[in-house]
Amino acid sequence: MYKLETIISLAKRRGFVFQSSEIYGGLNGCWDFGPLGVELLLNIKEAWWKAMTYRDDIEGIDASILMHPRTWDASGHTKQFSDPMIDNKTSKSRHRADNLIEEHIEKLRKKNKNDEADKIQIKLDSVKENSDYYDIITEHEIKDPISGSMDWTEVRNFNLMFKTFVGPIEDSSSIVYLRPESAQGIFVNFKNVMETGRQKPPFGIAQIGKAFRNEINTKNFLFRTREFEQMEMQYFVKPGSEKDWFEYWKEQRWNWYLSLGMKPEKMKWKNHEKLAHYANMAVDIEFEFPFGFGEIEGIHSRTDFDLKSHQEFSGKKMEYVDTVNQDRYIPYVIETSGGVSRGLMAFLCNAYEEEQVSDEKGGSETRVVMRFNKKLAPVTAAVFPLVNKDGMPELAHKIYKDLQKNFKSQYDVSGAIGRRYRRQDEIGTPYCVTVDGTSLEDGTVTIRERDSMQQIRISIDKIKNYIQDGIE
Ligand code: ATP
Repeated sequence: MYKLETIISLAKRRGFVFQSSEIYGGLNGCWDFGPLGVELLLNIKEAWWKAMTYRDDIEGIDASILMHPRTWDASGHTKQFSDPMIDNKTSKSRHRADNLIEEHIEKLRKKNKNDEADKIQIKLDSVKENSDYYDIITEHEIKDPISGSMDWTEVRNFNLMFKTFVGPIEDSSSIVYLRPESAQGIFVNFKNVMETGRQKPPFGIAQIGKAFRNEINTKNFLFRTREFEQMEMQYFVKPGSEKDWFEYWKEQRWNWYLSLGMKPEKMKWKNHEKLAHYANMAVDIEFEFPFGFGEIEGIHSRTDFDLKSHQEFSGKKMEYVDTVNQDRYIPYVIETSGGVSRGLMAFLCNAYEEEQVSDEKGGSETRVVMRFNKKLAPVTAAVFPLVNKDGMPELAHKIYKDLQKNFKSQYDVSGAIGRRYRRQDEIGTPYCVTVDGTSLEDGTVTIRERDSMQQIRISIDKIKNYIQDGIE
């Protein structure tokens, strides 16, 4: 298992991810995607969009980030979207109380103190109010990781929504929130989409978009950030059929990650012991990051909570009326909710490998290779002239320009060919095309495949189809 620092360092060195506003010292919990990161991000989103909306029963939307403030009263976010927060008076550091306890449990397990860890876990799972967190922290003498002190404040709720104002006057009537999830944009458009899309349950609405949460602690790179993107789908079904659809969507979403090369041994299910106020069944797909397993996607059975609540708050009917069977009901909802940037981080960790290979001088060297699924790889093809003379660069550049019409491609002339291969391996480029002396004589090139490192020779007019077949 590689360290998270190794992935962060590669991500920065090769232009996947930069710290936000780095020249000013960075902004905590925000990251910028560089030239390769944005390609990877787009490829993930495209794969999701195609899997979720290129079918009969799911429509896409793109709702605005700012929504009517009543939305968040109806969804429960104004009252309930908060995390338990505790401060340490010595270090003035702020923590999420549940995370502080979870980290303590993790530490105990590493020291093989499983009995104590189990005991605390049981208490954590049955927490009812903030004072229960405080009791666990003090009873088990959990110390502040920064100062080592136990000088804790009481535990208070902290609402995670970012508040701002619409228009020029900053008063209570102009308060709006940056949406903390994209789901509500789907619920408020349920009727619009059902009617214009000529859909009826079971059908779904999918959306990819930014969400904002003023997380108490941000950490682990892209795992917990304050601005992030979600890929969410809400599937509206007849009440009573939600169990079957829940199972269906669990399988679909698990298989989506596998189809993009996620290693099954690095994934696991986690059942929710404590259900959110809107849910009657909930599971997470977890991925094994270098710091341990963490959620990458949630599949939730949300009952009719959201639509019912919006009906009540807006006064607008949120029913489906089945005129054929003389039936009317508020649909139940199965939600699939994944983070794009958290998913990207999982794909980065999943792809990273180091291996020993022989170098050009007969010794051995470490090859860092990102084994991205070929569809996800930020660069699909790289083109090199073997040497930078004798007509090779001209031909190579022409091939590069042709490939660029269909695939994200790079052209590289600098350094020995072995070094150029390594540079592409490190960003996960599946195909390297090399123009050599023979190319000028018979119109063929070599194509080297990233994973096997095998080279084949094919004619120039077949390159495009060869690569296309390889990434499908
Ligand atoms: P957590 O328990 O980790 O806070 P959550 O259960 O609140 O997450 P959901 O509300 O179900 O998460 O959000 C769905 C998905 O959105 C998560 O699976 C994750 O991939 C992503 N996500 C949620 N919060 C963040 C965040 N702060 N930074 C990055 N991605 C996030």
